[in-house]
Amino acid sequence: MFILGLLLEGVLFLFLAYRFRKSSGASGGISLAASSKRELLGLLEERLEYVQELNVKHARLSDTELTLYEVTKSLSKFIETQDVLNAFRETMYNLLHPADCAIVDEELCGNYRGGYSLFKINISGEKTKYFAIKDSKPIERVKVAIMVNQLELFLKRSRLYAEIQRLSITDGLTACFVRRYFLERLKQEIQRSERNNLSLALLLIDVDNFKSFNDTYGHITGDAVLKEVVKILQSSLRQIDMCSRYGGEEFCIMLPSTNRDGALLAGERLRANVQEARIKAFNETLKCTISVGLAVFPDDGRQISGLLDKADKALYRAKAGGRNRVLAA
Ligand code: GH3
Ligand code: MG
Ligand code: MG
Repeated sequence: MFILGLLLEGVLFLFLAYRFRKSSGASGGISLAASSKRELLGLLEERLEYVQELNVKHARLSDTELTLYEVTKSLSKFIETQDVLNAFRETMYNLLHPADCAIVDEELCGNYRGGYSLFKINISGEKTKYFAIKDSKPIERVKVAIMVNQLELFLKRSRLYAEIQRLSITDGLTACFVRRYFLERLKQEIQRSERNNLSLALLLIDVDNFKSFNDTYGHITGDAVLKEVVKILQSSLRQIDMCSRYGGEEFCIMLPSTNRDGALLAGERLRANVQEARIKAFNETLKCTISVGLAVFPDDGRQISGLLDKADKALYRAKAGGRNRVLAA
């Protein structure tokens, strides 16, 4: 920006030299009338003022750009919403030092009315927050507003990231977890159970005669039935339990801190809830049942593969025994 100013100055002098040559009409030596001199000096002063103003303006601009860069640099390291907010507050505190600043929820804004300037932070889908700065020295409102705008962009980025993460671990049809993620979590949960000397139950669930829904009402209705069955399963579980789509119409559920008796009770509750439900799928009201096979860590094994194998065998026996039942390994 300063270079631009110097360039302008150079152009200005060339311009003035040209004017001078024209007004003096001299071809060689310089002889200038007093009025022309005054005119030339006036013009020179006017132009210098203009260049100076331009330089100050550009200096301010580059200052803003630098500050924006500081904010961008500090925020780009983080992806979690709370980390982004913390980094922003920290960076602003350093930039505005010694101004006191905070990020506050809308309902707490009242505490920051006197002596603070408030800048709204729009976080779509979440509660509005405010960036509060103590007015102990004059603050450049436009500059802060631009920086809050930067913050909003980074918050948007963290929201999109979270959404992509959520989509990558959830099943598109039923919205329960996908098998890959479930197995990752199961591994961690088994390690935790091992450390804390806790049991953990695994339930394999298969919808009975599901093919007949597809054959009778079509695949779309079949899909709707699957969605409804998962809703019933989810609403019958505790917060800490985890349900995954294990394959087509098969689901795998883990119940942390649950022994065999607890797992049998839980399985029976799931089975009964599905049996009792009237499942609405488009114009049809349908009934359906599930079979459940379960295995428990550490009684039935310590390895995931062994536990799943035992639960699968129990499920097979439940099917062979007439379906709509819960059997333990
Ligand atoms: P069983 O009681 O022995 O489990 O009988 P079943 O009919 O449920 O078992 P089978 O394995 O013969 O059929 C499962 C059917 O589930 C076949 C498959 O087309 C269907 N299916 C798997 N995934 C989906 C899905 O996402 N949507 C729909 N509509 N059907 C699916
Ligand atoms: Mg099946
Ligand atoms: Mg089935």
